[in-house]
Amino acid sequence: MKSYEVIIVGAGPAGCATALFMRQQGRRVLVLERAVFPRDKVCGEFISPAADDLLAQLGVLQAIEESRPVRLKGVAVSSYGKPELCIDYPPCPERGRPMTSLSLPRYQLDHLLVRNLRKRGVEVRERHAVDDFLFDDDRVTGVRGRDAGNRPFEFKSSVVVDASGRNGLSLRRLRLKKPQTGPGKIALAAHWEGVRLPREYCYMHISSPGYTGMAQVGRDSVNVVLVVDAPLVKGQEIDAFYQNTVLQNELRRSLLAGGRLAERVRTVESLSYAVRPVPCGGLVLAGDTTGFIDPFTGEGIYLSLRSAQLAAGVIDRAFQEANFSAHFLSRYERLRSREFDRKFMLSRILQKLIYRPRLSDGVVWALRRNPDLARTLAGVIGDYYPAERVVSWRFLGKTLRGVCSPKAPGSTTQPCGLHGVGE
Ligand SMILES: Cc1cc2nc3c(=O)[nH]c(=O)nc-3n(C[C@H](O)[C@H](O)[C@H](O)COP(=O)(O)OP(=O)(O)OC[C@H]3O[C@@H](n4cnc5c(N)ncnc54)[C@H](O)[C@@H]3O)c2cc1C
Repeated sequence: MKSYEVIIVGAGPAGCATALFMRQQGRRVLVLERAVFPRDKVCGEFISPAADDLLAQLGVLQAIEESRPVRLKGVAVSSYGKPELCIDYPPCPERGRPMTSLSLPRYQLDHLLVRNLRKRGVEVRERHAVDDFLFDDDRVTGVRGRDAGNRPFEFKSSVVVDASGRNGLSLRRLRLKKPQTGPGKIALAAHWEGVRLPREYCYMHISSPGYTGMAQVGRDSVNVVLVVDAPLVKGQEIDAFYQNTVLQNELRRSLLAGGRLAERVRTVESLSYAVRPVPCGGLVLAGDTTGFIDPFTGEGIYLSLRSAQLAAGVIDRAFQEANFSAHFLSRYERLRSREFDRKFMLSRILQKLIYRPRLSDGVVWALRRNPDLARTLAGVIGDYYPAERVVSWRFLGKTLRGVCSPKAPGSTTQPCGLHGVGE
């Protein structure tokens, strides 16, 4: 049976990044992916400013820049039909570049990552669906699955990295997903053509019955993702439901005026979930397989790349010490939790806010009144300010003072660009 040092299941951002970081450490890596690239994926396609550094380290930023991607300078938030508040990303002098987010179709980003893997000598096998792990006592020692011709395969390795995404192999096979509560969310997404958004922002519209994220992804192409409670969509004709819901909001109607759907609407279940610790040795999780936060704050790709970098560091140590036990590899879970827990908490807080119109209006109002507060939040959402700066009593106090300020929320709000925070 063929054997490798590291096997990675899934060639999304987490899998590709882990493979590239491991390759940079000189490891012999095999990536197994059930799809064929280029492949598409439902996503807001909006990549946190902090991801640039990681993409550069992975050697793909230059190829991305050569494709002349759209760069966004911040977020434009509207709460329940009120005009957008534009918030620019705050500067980050130590990075020596303007902080902007990439807005890039996943079809393109994921393909670039896979091409880069091959260029750097990583073996990638597409149309290879992994359906189980190989075990030696309580340690994972490889994988088995079926290739395009339905032929079985088995490969051995010292470590397996499961980067197979939100319905990942470990989550099913080892039942690692914690039970979920709530009605469940569904995301409906499509690109619109013939549209040019007026400004370079990711437009987040909080509205009933859900929220949308809209961003320019090409010259006249805009990606519009709608997230609603899953039961709402039951029995509906998806394309009609999506268009009616998107266009029932006046701001969106005017932003998308003259545009048309470029494709059928695609859907994906979009509920956030948490994952239990890995119970066996030889196995590490990366990306969405480690848990998923609602895409409202749009940082899944950054988290995938960064979790891959942390995973690669711990796996490298495991090789140096020839220790692939669950206990040794759990260092990675501690590092992840130290770095991401507050950000996850922020996401959960925002989730509670956006579905309560008065609170949501109040917070946007407070941000409008206090530009520093707004920019700090943008820096945290952009993943280059530590989450502690907003998940704190001080920030909460300032926000509450803004929420309780005398003027009624929304009474003096201005369209994006007139009194936006970034002006
Ligand atoms: C509605 C929505 C909007 C989002 N918007 C944004 C956004 O704007 N910005 C952002 O940063 N993030 C966003 N995200 C999150 C982002 O899409 C994910 O965090 C990111 O794709 C995770 O990458 P990954 O590599 O872990 O998983 P994936 O990208 O899902 O990749 C997993 C790969 O594994 C392969 N695979 C699965 N099972 C197997 C198997 N058994 N064998 C072999 N291969 C397998 C799949 O084919 C896939 O290629 C959004 C998510 C949703 C649901």
